Amino acid sequence: FPPADKPPLDVLICAPRGFCAGVVRAIDAVEKALALYGPPVYVRHEIVHNKYVVESLRRKGAVFVDELDEIPDTTAPVIFSAHGVPKSVPREAVTRRFFAIDATCPLVTKVHREAEVHHKRSRHVVLVGHAGHPEVVGTMGQLPEGAISLIETIADVARLLPPADQELAYVTQTTLSVDDTAGIVAALKARFPDIVSPHKEDICYATTNRQEAVKRVAPQVDAMIVVGSPNSSNSQRLREVAERAGCPVSRLVLRAEDIDWSLFGDIRRLGLTAGASAPEILVEEIIDAFALRFDVRVETVSTADESVFFPLPRDLREQATV
Ligand code: SF4
Repeated sequence: FPPADKPPLDVLICAPRGFCAGVVRAIDAVEKALALYGPPVYVRHEIVHNKYVVESLRRKGAVFVDELDEIPDTTAPVIFSAHGVPKSVPREAVTRRFFAIDATCPLVTKVHREAEVHHKRSRHVVLVGHAGHPEVVGTMGQLPEGAISLIETIADVARLLPPADQELAYVTQTTLSVDDTAGIVAALKARFPDIVSPHKEDICYATTNRQEAVKRVAPQVDAMIVVGSPNSSNSQRLREVAERAGCPVSRLVLRAEDIDWSLFGDIRRLGLTAGASAPEILVEEIIDAFALRFDVRVETVSTADESVFFPLPRDLREQATV
């Protein structure tokens, strides 16, 4: 289109969006390990749930595996992803004499420690989370089998059969829907009034802030794009939050090439955000793609300031000062 023929489009960009402190730390850990030790650097699981990030690290020499048994005997670093791992994984790494570096987000580790403290105090732990998500697998794997019951919905609360002779406590996955979780927790407290709650929310600051920004923008736009991967829990929640806030079209896209343009034909206002594992360069790519078809005017809608920073895992920090 010549510029004059392009229809106008207001793009409301949510802030905060994109990378959180845990994701920055995990990616930096892989890059630092590559710089210090050279390739290969083994990474168990996608370091963060974003194909673009994974591919760019792969090109620099990171080797991604699902399980440690895929790694040959090596002195190369073996990094655990930001989502956290069951206790069996570091144990296996010790047995195999791997140089293991744990890039688990400190906010996930906080949940692991909570679960352990509850267990030591003889409490049965209820984990609110999504079955099969690596963070949930990691948290369940902090305690012996049977010590944690996983629930996903309010209906699961009614079905829960905790041991009769134990106090109860709950913890949650860090990347859940704030609103859904509030409902599940209310149901838990209604059925088990003495259940012990976390001192501070387990849903992390980044998840909460990104959902808040989407809630502000979604009612003002005709469509919302969430930049992120389908396997990214927090990105999926952002898409749902936009939908529930009344946005007629809400889509999760990894790259500009994934946009189904038939959905965005006659919109005048577009909301844009990115999950905690999606790099800003992909947000820019989406804006550029819209700018080819629309006369785009960009506005940032900010609902919180973020200044959270996590230092690198200790092994990389100490090496960095040598
Ligand atoms: Fe950590 Fe939250 Fe980021 Fe997950 S989304 S890596 S818990 S800061």
